[in-house]
Amino acid sequence: MELWLREQHTEGYSVSWKIKEIFYQKQTPYQHLAIVEFYDLGRALVLDGIVQTTEKDEYIYHEMIAHVPMFSLRQVETVLVIGGGDGGTVREVLKHTGVKKVVLAEIDEDVINACRQYLPVTAACLSDPRVELAIGDGIKYVEQQQAAFDLIIVDSSDPIGPAEPLFGSKFYQLVKRALKPGGAVVAQTESPLFYPQAFQRAVQAMRENFTYVKPYLTAIPSYVGGFWTFTMASDSELKPSWPETLPFSNRYYTPEVHQAAFALPPFVAEIVNK
Ligand code: SAM
Repeated sequence: MELWLREQHTEGYSVSWKIKEIFYQKQTPYQHLAIVEFYDLGRALVLDGIVQTTEKDEYIYHEMIAHVPMFSLRQVETVLVIGGGDGGTVREVLKHTGVKKVVLAEIDEDVINACRQYLPVTAACLSDPRVELAIGDGIKYVEQQQAAFDLIIVDSSDPIGPAEPLFGSKFYQLVKRALKPGGAVVAQTESPLFYPQAFQRAVQAMRENFTYVKPYLTAIPSYVGGFWTFTMASDSELKPSWPETLPFSNRYYTPEVHQAAFALPPFVAEIVNK
C-alpha cells in the first residue's frame, strides 16, 4: 500500500510526498509531530502535517538563517534561537568559533528529543557545552531578558498556534529589549507567493521597532512555492564582512550568495513596500 503525505496549502493547491517509512508519531501538547522518511528527500520533521525540514535541503534554510546575520555583525558571543528544535540553526551558529553561548528556546521538548534520535545530522550540536536548552514559550523567555544577546534568531513554525505571536509587533518590542546595543534579530518570514500577508506582517512588526529592516530571499525546494523569505533587523546599519576565506565549509552559503539574497524581485519588494 502506498502512503502519501498531502500538504494542503490553498483550496486548489496541495503538495504530496510519498512516504517510505514513518519512524515516529506523537500528539504532543502543542502539535502533531512526525518523523518520516520520504522517497528522494530523505528523513523529515513534519509538524501538524507541514514539512519543516528534510535531509535533502535543510542546509539551505539553516545556513541562510544563521550565516547572513552572523557575518553581518562584528562580534557575536551570545545567541538566542527561538523555535528551531531540530537543531539545524544551532549547528550553523556554532561553526563560528567566537560564539560562547547559544540558548535554544523551544516550546516543544518532544521536537528536540525526536530530532536527536531520528535526525542526528541536523541535531548534531544540541549537546555542545555552549548550548543551553530553555524549554518553554520563546516569548516568555524573551520577556525575561534585557541586553543579553548579540543575535536573536526566530526559527519558528508558521504563524498558527504558539508561533502566531512571533510575527507581531509586541514580540519585537521584547526582542529589542533583549538585544545588546548593536545587536540584530533575524526571522524566517514565510513564502512571498503563498503567505505574503504573514511576510508583510513580520516586516511591518520589525519596522515598528527597528531602524534598519532588511528582507532577503532564498530558494528552499521543500517549502511551498520554493521561494522563502527571511528578514533581518537592527538599530545599527549592518555591513557584512568576511575573512579572505571562510573558516568553515558550507553547502549553500557564500559571501556572493549572501549579497545576492538581498536583490528582491519586484513581486517580493511590492509586498514589503505596500
Ligand atoms: N525551519 C522550519 C520552517 O520554517 O518551517 C521551522 C523549524 S520548526 C523546528 C519550528 C519550531 O518552533 C517547532 O519545533 C515549534 O515547536 C517551535 N515553536 C513554535 N512556537 C514557538 C514559541 N512560541 N516558542 C518557542 N518555540 C516555538
